[in-house]
Amino acid sequence: MKTLRYTAMVGAMLAGTAAVAQERFITIGTGGQTGVYFVVGQSICRLVNRNSAESGLKCTAPSTGGSIANINAIKAGDMDMGVAQSDWQYHAYNGTSEYEGDKFDKLRAVFSVHGEPFTIMARQDANIANFDDMKGKRVNVGNPGSGSAATMDVVLEAKGWTKGDFSLASELKPAEQAAALGDNKVDAITYTVGHPNGSIQEAASTVESNLVTVDGEAIDKLIADNPYYAKATIPGGMYPGSPEDTQTFGVKATFVTSADVPEDVVYEVVKAVFDNFDRFKKLHPAFETLTKEGMIADGNSAPLHAGAEKYYKEAGLM
Ligand code: GLU
Repeated sequence: MKTLRYTAMVGAMLAGTAAVAQERFITIGTGGQTGVYFVVGQSICRLVNRNSAESGLKCTAPSTGGSIANINAIKAGDMDMGVAQSDWQYHAYNGTSEYEGDKFDKLRAVFSVHGEPFTIMARQDANIANFDDMKGKRVNVGNPGSGSAATMDVVLEAKGWTKGDFSLASELKPAEQAAALGDNKVDAITYTVGHPNGSIQEAASTVESNLVTVDGEAIDKLIADNPYYAKATIPGGMYPGSPEDTQTFGVKATFVTSADVPEDVVYEVVKAVFDNFDRFKKLHPAFETLTKEGMIADGNSAPLHAGAEKYYKEAGLM
């Protein structure tokens, strides 16, 4: 192991790539293995690690509980970076909602990624076409630590409902919920996630099911009152059982870090993604429509990290 490292360092020096940086390990918080955050983290690490010999950075992206778990791990210094929904980036930085009294001043935005519609998939035999049909049903609200479950809480509050309005509110992880739907343990599963994704696909191909419309006054008000929410559509035909477009609302997945993470580390990570942008976009269909400009301008509410800003300025992107 030591010998290999040494060889890589000498190789890089012989190639004239300046002095080799000291080895540094960075960890990126993702989400469940059947979600898209896991692919975001794995993709970023893959690009960072291609350049390890030069940058000294070694990147890993383990599966986690999701947005809230990632933000909290970055705050505690247990992780360096992570993926988080734009609503939870906003609340963590501003000390609102779940983060009331727990403001994370040092939270920094790096870039935003794909859109994440608030998604509900129901068993067809449960007769749920609209969110309002979920009263009295068995619903998987999602695992604690996920942005998905936290956004479900926001929707319930906006509608004047509580979890008690469901006959069951289970907290299964994304990887467990398709099977629960198929086994008739729940009537509906919920997931704020990019599309297409493995968890919803698995549910749709396991049991006759349909996507559920999320609209109406309470949702319109949520969108009007909060800059991080927008109307969203899940395209018809993406999953079996849902041939028409499904209307809902959504957030953006964002990539965040802490002001305590050194400038050159964040700079190298951004460079790895933006210098290899076409390669990055091919790593998941949800990344296909991304643009560099959009990733810098949309979905971020915390200040940009200095290392990210440095790269964007150098690249003429801002
Ligand atoms: N938006 C979800 C969350 O924060 C995660 C989605 C994913 O893993 O792709 O919990």
